[in-house]
Amino acid sequence: MSPTGASSVESIAENQRELPFYQPVDNECELFEHAYRQRLPLLLKGPTGCGKTRFVSHMAAKLGKSLFTVSCHDDLTAADLTGRYLLQGGETRWVDGPLTRAVREGGICYLDEVVEARKDVTVVLHPLTDDRRLLPLERTGELLEAPDDFMLVISYNPGYQHILKSLKPSTRQRFVAKTFGFPPPTVEREVVARESGLAPERCSALVNLAARLRDMKGQDLEEGVSTRLLVYCATLIAAGMPILQAAQATLVEPLSDDEDVQEGLLEAIKATF
Ligand code: ADP
Repeated sequence: MSPTGASSVESIAENQRELPFYQPVDNECELFEHAYRQRLPLLLKGPTGCGKTRFVSHMAAKLGKSLFTVSCHDDLTAADLTGRYLLQGGETRWVDGPLTRAVREGGICYLDEVVEARKDVTVVLHPLTDDRRLLPLERTGELLEAPDDFMLVISYNPGYQHILKSLKPSTRQRFVAKTFGFPPPTVEREVVARESGLAPERCSALVNLAARLRDMKGQDLEEGVSTRLLVYCATLIAAGMPILQAAQATLVEPLSDDEDVQEGLLEAIKATF
C-alpha cells in the first residue's frame, strides 16, 4: 500500500443535461442503444475528427448516463484507469480512477485511442468485457461487479496502426464494433453549418473541397482533412477571416509539414475559391 505519485490520467467526467448535437450517419444510435441495453461493450473505429467523441457524448446524454472520457496516451497504465493510493494531508487514501468510478457509480466509460495505452490496460478490460463484467482492484482487494448501467466504449484509428500498436484479436473480439468515416456531403454540410454558424450554401463549397483534399490521402498525406478541421475553417470564415487565410491555417498547415504537399493542398484550395 505504498503511496504513489499523482495520477497522469486526464479524464473528463460529464453529466450533461443538454443533448450535444450529433447528426446520425447510419444506424450508430440504434446500435449504441442496443449494446447499452444488452450490456455489451462497443468499439468505434475511424479516423480522427470524424465525430466519434461527439457521438458518445450525445448517446450518454440521451441515455441520461454519466460519461467518463479518457484520452489514452502511451504512458497511460491500468492504475490510471482503476485508481491509486495518494498521499493527502499526511494520510494515504485510495482514489478511484475514471473506469472504477464508472463501474461503481454506473455510467459510460469512453477510452479514446485505446491502442496508445500500455499493455496492462487490456488485462483490466478483459474481465469487464465478457459476461462476468468484473473489475478486480488488486490494490484494495475489491472485486467490483459492473451494474447494468455500466458500459465500456473504446475507440481507435485503424489508419495509424502499426504492428506494435494494434488491438489484439483476443481484445477486439470482445466488442460489438462500428466503423465511422467522414459523414456523407449532405450530413457534413449540415454539421459544419450548425457548428460554425456559416451559411449552409457557403459550407457546401468547403465540403466539396474536403472531398478533393481527402482524395489526396495516401499519396503524401497520412490522413484526410477531418470534419473537425472543416468546422474550424468555417468558424474562422464566419468570424470574418478571408477564405484563403482560413483555409491555409486549418486545411493546409495542420495536415502536413512538407512544403510540396502543402503547395498541392493550396493549389486545390485556390482552384475552389
Ligand atoms: P473524433 O472523436 O472522431 O476524433 P470528434 O467527435 O471530436 O472526433 O468530432 C470533431 C468535431 O466534428 C466535433 O466537435 C463536431 O463539431 C464535428 N462532428 C463530426 N461529425 C459530426 C456529426 N455526425 N454530428 C455532429 N458533429 C459532428
